[in-house]
Amino acid sequence: MTVPEPTPGEVVQATLHHTACTLDCPDSCSLEVEVRDGRVDKVRAAPPDLAHPLTSGFICSKVGRISRHLYGEDRLLHPARRTGPKGDGAFERISWEEALDLIVSRMTEARTAFGGESVLPVSYGGSNGLMTQDTADAILFRRFGASALARNVCAAPSTAAALGLYGKMAGVALEDYEHASLAIVWGANPSSTGIHLVPILRTMQARGGKLVVVDPRRTPLAKKADLHLQPRPGTDLCLALALHRELFRRGGADLDFLAEHATGVEELRRRAEPWTFARAAEATGIPEADIARCHEWYSASSPAVIRCGWGVERNRNGGSAVAAILALPAVAGKFQVRAGGYTMSNGSAFRDVGRREPSPGTRIVNMNHMGRVLTDPDAIQGPPIKVLFVYNANPLATLPNQELVRRGLAREDLFVVVFDQVLTDTARYADLVLPATTFLEHHDLAMGYGAMVLHATKPVAPAVGEARSNNHVFGELADRLGLLRHDDPRSDAEWRQTVLGRERSRRLSDDGWVTPRTGRRPIQFVDAFPYTRDRKVHLCPPSLDAEASQGLYAFHAAAGAERYPLTLISPSVPQTVSSTFGQLRPGQVPLEMHPRDAAARGLDTGDKPRVRVFNDYGEVRCRLRLNPDLKPGVTLLPKGAWFRSTESDNNACALAPDTLTDVGAGACFNDARVQVEALAD
Ligand code: SF4
Repeated sequence: MTVPEPTPGEVVQATLHHTACTLDCPDSCSLEVEVRDGRVDKVRAAPPDLAHPLTSGFICSKVGRISRHLYGEDRLLHPARRTGPKGDGAFERISWEEALDLIVSRMTEARTAFGGESVLPVSYGGSNGLMTQDTADAILFRRFGASALARNVCAAPSTAAALGLYGKMAGVALEDYEHASLAIVWGANPSSTGIHLVPILRTMQARGGKLVVVDPRRTPLAKKADLHLQPRPGTDLCLALALHRELFRRGGADLDFLAEHATGVEELRRRAEPWTFARAAEATGIPEADIARCHEWYSASSPAVIRCGWGVERNRNGGSAVAAILALPAVAGKFQVRAGGYTMSNGSAFRDVGRREPSPGTRIVNMNHMGRVLTDPDAIQGPPIKVLFVYNANPLATLPNQELVRRGLAREDLFVVVFDQVLTDTARYADLVLPATTFLEHHDLAMGYGAMVLHATKPVAPAVGEARSNNHVFGELADRLGLLRHDDPRSDAEWRQTVLGRERSRRLSDDGWVTPRTGRRPIQFVDAFPYTRDRKVHLCPPSLDAEASQGLYAFHAAAGAERYPLTLISPSVPQTVSSTFGQLRPGQVPLEMHPRDAAARGLDTGDKPRVRVFNDYGEVRCRLRLNPDLKPGVTLLPKGAWFRSTESDNNACALAPDTLTDVGAGACFNDARVQVEALAD
């Protein structure tokens, strides 16, 4: 349906609708949407009587201004076929019938000539909830026999560590942080990602609790912290092991708790032993006295809670670092009280939702190696990739070794479909683009992974142009390929019941929300226990220990520091926590650098000089911005910037290595080593 423009002077009545946000964000806000003449006009927090409490009457500005995304010039309105060279973004409109016929014929041809594994679906979280991913798409691609994708670009090492130590144990509810005596926010920047934790932490501090922030940047939260530790990227493991060492040596370890609830205690103690405060200070660049103060406060405080963020994992030591951090509350005996323990993802509070389509056992492609897989036949076993179906993702703007990904997408013998809401950087390389609905235009289910809430969401405005939902398109393709069975869910109501189960589906109204079955916020080791086989915490899980090349908790120093003395990090920023909404960012993104590093290169001229930041993977050209809040030796380009945001038509991923983390086979974005030079204006 095309959304009509109001005629000039026409007075249009607004209608109010209630739904929830499905974006990749821990908070899962309850929303109130004002719709005027069939178009989303204003979006704000739902009123308290309709909202999940964590929403607290406010939402982020990204979603508050989402109408710019819904009705902006980049929105895809109809299916279209490529007419120019790959990458040019030149397309001609075609019908849905033609588009679906073309996909069916190209997938069938590829399977006939090379086998089903020559088709690779590429997806990530996008802005989709539980009902529009791993549902009809899983039916289509798994029954077709396509290659499977390891969605390892984010959270894989953290998930591996959390599962290895605790199984799927629910974390401390964010609302409970206000009761803590000490909160350590480690590798997370809630001012950008999960804004509702910020006022809760301020309340905690107002009540006398202390806040410690561990981050190489002086983030807005770090400026309010009682103690800010600035480790070099990739060295969080050293800090965590030093804390363990002193807990064991100075009587801060809760040996009774460990004897009853833990395995691997001696292994962890032994591996932490070399990490004196002095050695950790040298490795991390944090003053020794600050490490000692952090230990003293953590050892003495209860309730003490650690918010472990996903910034910790993005380096060669990432899995071990997350494991060592999550082991701290067990060693220090911080569980068994409200607000004591840790929070990573709280998605496990709803462990029983979702639908699993059986795997056909086809090969698995790690998305961090997308460039290699698309350009080097020896990089994977089996047939070459001939059809790439991209949805809920913008791999060109988000995967490491970007230039190789670009070369792969530009292959003339690769048929690329991109199903998205807007013409992304990846979509410009597509042979066929398909317009997708947003979470305000289709039914979905929003599950918080910070907030412990599960919302039903519903379309509040007509879909723009000819946009269709995932389940509509993937169901149609599965049908045309003869893959549907008579008992497969087809309608939104059937999908909802399948994902939630009959009883929970019945309890959830179209715009309602539910909390986990217990109805209470869990206290770890009182009413939430590890989901390991023996219900104990495994401080040195054998599976992770075997996976890490030199064993779990082995520290690996940064490689390449001699040629490239600076580290480049690419964290979330308020405008972009992923590439979603990246097209709305005005102007170009600057490279941020500490004034001392700029002075050493003659770049502290005060007029935002043009620079090139480069390494063996590529080069980004942009302006420089001095930022005294960065740790010296660390530079920053924001995550999620679109190519239009730099003058070199790329972003931070052009400099990111496609090496993998020690466990979890995750991405090592923060292992990017770079040098920076001035460019002539
Ligand atoms: S992105 Fe996060 S903060 Fe913003 S509306 Fe969605 S859930 Fe709320």
